Amino acid sequence: MSDMHKLLYSDLENYILSKIHNKTEDWMENLKKIAIQQRIPIMDDASIHFVRQLIRIVKPKKILEIGTGIGYSALMMHDAYPYSEILTIEKDSQRYEDAMRHIQAHQKENDIHVINGDALDVLNQLPKGDPFDLVLIDASKGQYQRFFEHIEPYLSDTGIVISDNVFLLRYVIKKQTYPTRYRNIVNSIQAYNDWLAQHSNFDTSFLPIGDGLAVSVKH
Ligand code: SAH
Ligand code: MG
Repeated sequence: MSDMHKLLYSDLENYILSKIHNKTEDWMENLKKIAIQQRIPIMDDASIHFVRQLIRIVKPKKILEIGTGIGYSALMMHDAYPYSEILTIEKDSQRYEDAMRHIQAHQKENDIHVINGDALDVLNQLPKGDPFDLVLIDASKGQYQRFFEHIEPYLSDTGIVISDNVFLLRYVIKKQTYPTRYRNIVNSIQAYNDWLAQHSNFDTSFLPIGDGLAVSVKH
């Protein structure tokens, strides 16, 4: 978690965080350190904790992740339900290599498959017929709607889509002022959240967990 995040957290959020730090294992902490060193924005503690909890409940056989980074969230999700099979897509070749290394070091290469490419291209080429039960979107914030639209045909009937960072450092809350360099991505996420909330095929909950999670369920 970045210091910027910590400053944004309320007493309530800090209280919740204080209750979820008791079961972290060394490998989790090590991967977090590597991500921070390499300035890779991995999922914050409260968010990945909730996603893991959801995975324990749902027991998804097939998981799709958009935005592997160095493999932290994929390994965390698989650890929560080791019978899952994960496909995760990363466009940056260096990060892809790092993720492969970490996944191999954990001997999870049979269960976690990493593809190097732009998720939109990869999804266009993915064969249908073996749908995903749970999808995590955690890649470029300007493209969330397009990711979602590309994912829809690959979702199982009870499919769940989780979108990370939907409050974007709380900047999406309109009254708040924010640095101008964020303007485009704030506008994109605001538009995405509006679009998602109106989507006729999904029910979406926006949860004040970490940097904001949207949980969308097909109906
Ligand atoms: N989910 C990871 C962190 C991912 S960081 C974790 O919590 O451990 C976001 C990643 O998305 C970056 O590595 C970036 O290179 C990748 N990304 C951004 N746009 C993408 C796209 N269109 N397709 C695939 N990967 C993308
Ligand atoms: Mg994220």
